[in-house]
Amino acid sequence: MVFTSLDFDAPGKQQGFLQVPYSHNLGGWANVLVPVTVVQNGAGPTVLVLGGNHGDEYQGQIAAMKLAREVTTEQVRGRLILIPSLNFPAAQAATRLSPLDGMNLNRAFPGDPEGPVSSQIAHYLTTVLFPLSDVVIDIHSGGRSMEFVPCSHMHLVPDRAQRAAMFSAMLAWNTEFSFIYADIAGSGLLPVEAENQGKLVVTTELGGGEGVSAKVHRVAQQGLRNVLIHVGLLQGTEETRAGLGLPPTIITQALNRDDYLLAPESGIFEIMVDLGTLVRAGDLVGAIHHLERPDRAPEPVVARSDGFLITMRVPCLTRQGDCVAVIARQVSADEVLHA
Ligand SMILES: [Zn+2]
Repeated sequence: MVFTSLDFDAPGKQQGFLQVPYSHNLGGWANVLVPVTVVQNGAGPTVLVLGGNHGDEYQGQIAAMKLAREVTTEQVRGRLILIPSLNFPAAQAATRLSPLDGMNLNRAFPGDPEGPVSSQIAHYLTTVLFPLSDVVIDIHSGGRSMEFVPCSHMHLVPDRAQRAAMFSAMLAWNTEFSFIYADIAGSGLLPVEAENQGKLVVTTELGGGEGVSAKVHRVAQQGLRNVLIHVGLLQGTEETRAGLGLPPTIITQALNRDDYLLAPESGIFEIMVDLGTLVRAGDLVGAIHHLERPDRAPEPVVARSDGFLITMRVPCLTRQGDCVAVIARQVSADEVLHA
């Protein structure tokens, strides 16, 4: 069972850990210690900020760590709970999946209190931290496998009031692209569990994994602060893209399987259009070159829908079935809010 010495109701700023039981060959009564910062100051929303749901995604981990160090109690109205590296063993290992149990934490919900470490972390969020929270912010990027156009994103949740609140919070990240996505790769997602509990859920895909530019780090850190101001947790004036002299965000969505292009066979993947480019159905997006038969023509990867290339596979060496590109069509705010 996950234990913490933190008191989520105590005023002021606390630093502590979630302690998750985990035995290994040289550690009989060992725990995995997941760092947590809690800042509580009177009336206001409870906001849970999560980085490192996937261990190889650094933008959110850094943004949450910096905020945890910098934020003062006086700046907060309500309660801020920051967990920079949620899948801590994966963050230590620079991997998407936990090296302790091989699990994808973002497919482990609602979790199991008697399961492996990832299941226990998921269960603690499901049963303790989500019920405490009004807002859940889960900061992702493409990790080592994908590179995204830096975007905030969301599911089309059925509840219209919840959807509208999530939509405005998504826009408050002030990214150039906003992205409505579907779960084509399984169930048990962290945001879905939080959405099912009625929370205002804000998620992102801020670029990629190993190489993160200063610009993308700024998008992560400024966006997080602005969303926290937007939901009334942090003191300050909310910024908008218009106020910053930027064009409106391009709202895109990929809800159909056809929008998610999988490698038809293994080989070396070559992307042929730049991220953020508008393509048409039938356009060549990339190709898979045959390692064993370089004399054969490469296997084409063709867009099956119109839209922007919102993400692409990063490691060129590709296995059959890997997602190599996602095409997201532009939609209006009205379409998102009323579809
Ligand atoms: Zn992720």
